[in-house]
Amino acid sequence: MGSATGDPHILFFPFLAPGHIIPAVDLAKLFASRGVKTTVITTPGNAPSIQPSIDQANDSCSLRHPIALSLLPFPAAEAGLPAGCENPIAIPLTNLDMRARFVAAIELLQQPFARLLRELLPDAVVTDFLLPWTQDVAAELAVPRLVFHGTSLFFLCASHSIDRFKVLESVPPGSAESFVLHGLPHRIEMRRSQIQDFSKMPGIMEFYDRCKNSEERSYGVVANSYYELEPDYAEHYRKVVGRRVWNVGPVSFCNGNEIEKSRRGDKTSIDCNQCLSWLNTKKPGSVVYVCFGSMYKLPIAQIREIALGLEALDTPFILVVRDVRGNDSDWLPQGFEDEVAGREKGLIIRGWAPQILILNHEAVGGFVTHCGWNSCLEGVSAGVPMITWPMYAEQFFNERLIVEVLKVGVGVGVKEYADLGEERRVVAGEEIRMAVGRVMDGGEEAEEMRRRARELAEMARRAVEEGGSSYVELGELIQELIERRKTAGTE
Ligand code: UDP
Repeated sequence: MGSATGDPHILFFPFLAPGHIIPAVDLAKLFASRGVKTTVITTPGNAPSIQPSIDQANDSCSLRHPIALSLLPFPAAEAGLPAGCENPIAIPLTNLDMRARFVAAIELLQQPFARLLRELLPDAVVTDFLLPWTQDVAAELAVPRLVFHGTSLFFLCASHSIDRFKVLESVPPGSAESFVLHGLPHRIEMRRSQIQDFSKMPGIMEFYDRCKNSEERSYGVVANSYYELEPDYAEHYRKVVGRRVWNVGPVSFCNGNEIEKSRRGDKTSIDCNQCLSWLNTKKPGSVVYVCFGSMYKLPIAQIREIALGLEALDTPFILVVRDVRGNDSDWLPQGFEDEVAGREKGLIIRGWAPQILILNHEAVGGFVTHCGWNSCLEGVSAGVPMITWPMYAEQFFNERLIVEVLKVGVGVGVKEYADLGEERRVVAGEEIRMAVGRVMDGGEEAEEMRRRARELAEMARRAVEEGGSSYVELGELIQELIERRKTAGTE
């Protein structure tokens, strides 16, 4: 059942974590901007972080259908979780039992999701790769399900190669041994130590197998990427992996003005005007922005090394510290914060930063990133070269894409995967100084990276404009769903 106007109706259901919810809301805004009726599904505890962004889009009056938000009650008590634990951020990193309960609670959303789907009967659902049961519910009601991974096509192809050639079977987890990813468009080597050790989390392999199996049965994949960014992998994904994929990104471009950029994600911990005024005092391309995404909590020892590394450079910086891990209240070297603030050298944001607002300011010339895909793509879209510091999930793969394939970044030198909450090597201030220096020193290597980054950003901007590749692919998908409904209506 589409809308009364005949426009298709699509539901968006991201996994309950900011790195999934934020791009899914952008995706909904993107579809809505093309006349599609859209509904975002989440739980009450996650609503406050996205409501302002949705309200902003709806208030702009440019949408034919306001974006709807539908909330499924989160079964915290049934899963044995405290009330309000609706997001991995609310769970202590080292508490594996609570993490398992969180995953179990998400499984319990299946029935309420099925009820909602029966009630709304949309023309399609776009649901997270990590919600495999949405495929079964959708299939039962003959609603096409599109999978949203929220990661690079490069990673999806690499992951397919690892499965296909069973590489992990012959290399023990954690070993420094490297191997080539067979069959990919580029020669890519990975170390075993950069890939998750599945034996540490019982049941995780079975879960991923379920996710993959449900994806194989799905209608196709919607990717937050653009064809020109990873054309070889878009082709590989279609021809070798065998998926139908629509590249519609970068989705963050749907946040055009400063208000939209500053309302994206959580409530910012800094006044955005203050942040912009600070950036306005800096020379173009002179500031390095340091942020490790929405989940990672820096240990105190690491913050101190970052501070030392940044202090040893002339480069002004913005350092985002979401939450400090450890009990020491003195988490920066003595006097550091007052000192850098006094000299206007650095801005420390404790909490949520307006990331895309910052990255798109002309003063920003480098981005120290943990290589979450949203951050990578936001860096690329802003034309900012990166200092890559992968930690977990698929971040080591995204690093390969940024450093080796796109050549718009340098690695800080991390070689070991460590899950959230696990101990990891503290990267020394000197290593940080050297890597940031390579990107910010204005030398030949840095200028070449900067030139390529600008080129990719320009391509990204063109991709989402009318007639651009992402604009066209999105239009084709919407048209296909409209045709599908017409055909179904005549059967
Ligand atoms: N983000 C932000 N402010 C912050 C931290 C993160 O706006 O202080 C946004 C960032 O722009 C990105 C998302 O949160 O869109 C993080 O996603 P990513 O894939 O980079 O990493 P994750 O948080 O999933 O590890």
